[in-house]
Amino acid sequence: MRYLGKRVVITGVPGVGKTTVINGTIEALGNEGVVYTSINFGTFMFDIASREGLVTDRDEMRKLDQDVQRRVQRLAAQGIARIEGNIIVDTHCTVRTPAGFLAGLPEWVLRELKPDIFVLVETDEDQILNRRLSDESRVRDREGYVGIRDHQQFNRSIAASYAMLSGCTVKIILNADFLLDNAVADMADVLR
Ligand code: AMP
Ligand code: MG
Repeated sequence: MRYLGKRVVITGVPGVGKTTVINGTIEALGNEGVVYTSINFGTFMFDIASREGLVTDRDEMRKLDQDVQRRVQRLAAQGIARIEGNIIVDTHCTVRTPAGFLAGLPEWVLRELKPDIFVLVETDEDQILNRRLSDESRVRDREGYVGIRDHQQFNRSIAASYAMLSGCTVKIILNADFLLDNAVADMADVLR
């Protein structure tokens, strides 16, 4: 049996600041000698999808056919499953696609990743809206605060099913404006 470290999956709607929270946490824990590797699920998918000539931008993937998204998702999960040690997987609880919400961790993905802890990063929808509008590096869907609220609510529901299927715990972390330090401290408590 291969040694697997602690496997943490971190999710949140686009623009909530997952990547920022992860980077802050990895740095804080590194100072204490606790080592985690951050893995971006979307980057694994993008490497596969762009090699196949399916997309040229990571924000095009959620518009692909459902079957294609699922196939690439499975391949990414299989690749990530081979990584040993403590890992934080930066991904999505659900992805908003033209055909509706796509589960980020259907049971075949959960079986590969074997998460110990599932983290939902959240904040108020108006803060997320502002963050999306000021991030020009990404092609964000145009969405109002009601849509963002519904997405966050749906993510909580589906996180409960992930806990039931995999036995992981679910931790909700608030990443409010001007309070990134609190989010990082909460996240570090989860990981150490
Ligand atoms: P991100 O950079 O985290 O926003 O991820 C970029 C894209 O990767 C997302 O918009 C999705 O199309 C895709 N993606 C990331 N994680 C998953 C997942 N678990 N299941 C399906 N698609 C995903
Ligand atoms: Mg990100």
